[in-house]
Amino acid sequence: MYVCGPTVYDETHVGHARTYIAFDIIRRYLEYLGYNVIYVLNITDIDDKIINRANEEGVPWIDISSYYTKRFLEDMRALYIKEASIYPKVTEHVEDIVEFIRVLMERGYAYEANGSVYFSVDKIPDYGSFSKQRIEDLIAGARVSIDPNKKNPLDFALWKAWKPKEPWWKSPWGPGRPGWHIECVVMATKYLGELFDIHGGGQDLIFPHHENEVAIARAYFGDDKFARYWLHTGLLTIKGEKMSKSLHNIIPVKDVLKKYSAEAFRLYIASAHYRKQLDFSLDAIAQYERVLDTLYTAHDYLVSLIKESISSLDELMEKESISAGDNDIVVKVNKLKDEFISYMNNDFSTPKALSTLLQFAKYIISLASEHEDISRDTLIILYTEYIKMARVFGVLNERKPPYDLEKLVNELLSLILEIRNYFRRQKAWDIADNIRERLNKLGILINDTKYRTLWRWSRS
Ligand code: AMP
Ligand code: ZN
Repeated sequence: MYVCGPTVYDETHVGHARTYIAFDIIRRYLEYLGYNVIYVLNITDIDDKIINRANEEGVPWIDISSYYTKRFLEDMRALYIKEASIYPKVTEHVEDIVEFIRVLMERGYAYEANGSVYFSVDKIPDYGSFSKQRIEDLIAGARVSIDPNKKNPLDFALWKAWKPKEPWWKSPWGPGRPGWHIECVVMATKYLGELFDIHGGGQDLIFPHHENEVAIARAYFGDDKFARYWLHTGLLTIKGEKMSKSLHNIIPVKDVLKKYSAEAFRLYIASAHYRKQLDFSLDAIAQYERVLDTLYTAHDYLVSLIKESISSLDELMEKESISAGDNDIVVKVNKLKDEFISYMNNDFSTPKALSTLLQFAKYIISLASEHEDISRDTLIILYTEYIKMARVFGVLNERKPPYDLEKLVNELLSLILEIRNYFRRQKAWDIADNIRERLNKLGILINDTKYRTLWRWSRS
């Protein structure tokens, strides 16, 4: 998979997060099915926006791009987005891009003008068909700002000639820097080959970015190469407008995470189909904290049942095979699994798949409270299938108890001793003795002194 990455000149906002969480879920689902996914996410670390920001702030452009690259990766981690297999940066691929442009020129698809190089869209017979647009409409749109270097107003820059106060790299056409569209073609095919499975990005990239990527790829590799499937995420809007820096309506990811957990935010994103527009509401995330709580409840109940039934969870996870388990429960688990797969196979319908996961959680909670005897093997089947399904959504990452165990042991022991002393005052000696013996077996020795009950660990 190749997903168009961010241009690193500002904080990651929830619109970006929507796109990257959606693709993270798609990637996780493919892995759930057993595919080995190579996930490439580029970093556009040189661009007009980065240069403008650096000039505004009076700092070198590289400070802007390296700072926001770091911030982007921190936000991705905070959102439990799995690391990409590789994060290629444009500035580390300039030589590859130059060579690619050279070949395009040699084959007559590109021309040089005043130190810049342009792609000639006239060489692609049905240019515009990818984004389903009429060429006449496109030309009318492009006429707004005519660049005298271009032979056709729809031609686009592959290489931009150097201008004062801009960074530059060497090329046969003089100093300059790469254009945006070619970067993605070069980096995608460098790491994934000339034919790969999925190319993703937000719907705002369909034109001109992806139309132009396709034009370049057809010129270089031929008509039936490049991406097999194109997936576009619907835009995240706020009061009906696209969330974007230029509209001054962005909400940074870090602000959302001050109020809500990353996992609830992920569920909120998953509750809308990836292709649909999603109008953002901070308050709507609250209800997914409750959904998340149900998911954790099922998990915690299951873990405590498993711990009751075995001495070590690790030991059991290493067991080679699992017996069939309780038939009715296994049948139900398989039904939930099939349902989940059929929803996800239908263009990754996460809203429906999420309702299946929630049903699974409620089923586990009802089993835990109502089912008298569940075999170990059945518990393990429930646990593994449930966790695998939850993992597709990138939730239940916090599976360790959220507290200090040593402190908890101390406090629970005080509570037990308090209850025992209550029974002693009631002269219920048999209960008090029984508690003492049970604690003894756990290696805790207790001593009733005049003023208080003391305890210590047994050393023998
Ligand atoms: P950018 O840094 O603007 O190039 O965007 C990086 C990625 O985030 C691209 O795939 C965009 O399509 C996507 N993106 C940007 N804004 C939004 C938004 N408001 N909703 C959904 N995706 C977005
Ligand atoms: Zn791209």
